[in-house]
Amino acid sequence: MARKFFVGGNWKCNGTVESVSKLVDTLNAGAIVSTDIVEVVVAPTFIHIPMVKDRLRSEIQVSAQNCWVKKGGAYTGEVSAEQLVDLGIPYVILGHSERRHILKESHDFVGQKCAYALSKGLKVIACIGETLDEREAGNTIKVCAEQLIAIKEAIGQNWSEVVVAYEPVWAIGTGKVATPEQAEEVHAELRKWLAENVSAEVAEATRILYGGSVTGGNCKELAKKPNVDGFLVGGAALKPEFIDIINSAQ
Ligand code: PEP
Repeated sequence: MARKFFVGGNWKCNGTVESVSKLVDTLNAGAIVSTDIVEVVVAPTFIHIPMVKDRLRSEIQVSAQNCWVKKGGAYTGEVSAEQLVDLGIPYVILGHSERRHILKESHDFVGQKCAYALSKGLKVIACIGETLDEREAGNTIKVCAEQLIAIKEAIGQNWSEVVVAYEPVWAIGTGKVATPEQAEEVHAELRKWLAENVSAEVAEATRILYGGSVTGGNCKELAKKPNVDGFLVGGAALKPEFIDIINSAQ
C-alpha cells in the first residue's frame, strides 16, 4: 500500500494569541490538496492547543510537541499522554533534537516516551538525526540507528502509529537544507534498517519525513524522492508558505 504523504508543522515555542489566530486564519483560507493525498498536522505550544483545535479547519490535525513519559501526577510542568487524549489530540512529536540536545533527553527516555504515548492511543512523530560532527565523522546511520534501537526496544513491533522524522541537527533552523540526494540516501538506509530490524511490512508502511530548513522553495524537489514521505517543518510552518509545502504532496 502506498504511504500517504505527511506534512507536520512544528510551531515550537512561538506565538501569541494574536499571531496564532492569524496563522490559523491563513491556514483556513489556503487551498490545500485533498486529505486523500496528504495528512497534515500542526503542533502549537500546549497553551495554544485548545484554541487552535477549536478554530482550525478539520483537514488539519493538531499535535502536541511533547508529553510526559508515564502517567501524569506529581510532575511539575509536564503534560501527560492521557491529558492529550482527553483533549482529543491525536499526535505527539517526541525526541525532537532540541529536547535531546538542550534538555538532554536520552535515547532510552525518548523510547520510553514513545511506548507510553502509543499505549495511551496517541500517534507518535518520532524524531531522529545526527549532528554535523557525527555526519562529518561518517556516523550518520550509526547515530540514527542508535536512536531507532532505543525506540524499538521500547515499542517492539508496534510501529503502525509511528511516523519517523529524519531531522539532521545541522539542518534544523540553519537554512542549510539537505540536498534531495542526501535526504534520499539516509531515508533509504533508514527504511533498510526497519526492514532488517523490525520487519519488511513495517519498513514498507512507515512514513519517513525529512525535517531541516524545508521551505516552499525547496520542498518540491525533496518530495520527488521515493523514500521522502513528507516533511516536518519548523520556521516555514509559521508562514503562508506552509500551504505550498502541504501542496508539494501532489
Ligand atoms: C524542526 O524544528 O523540526 C525543523 C525542521 O525546523 P526548521 O524547519 O526551522 O529547520
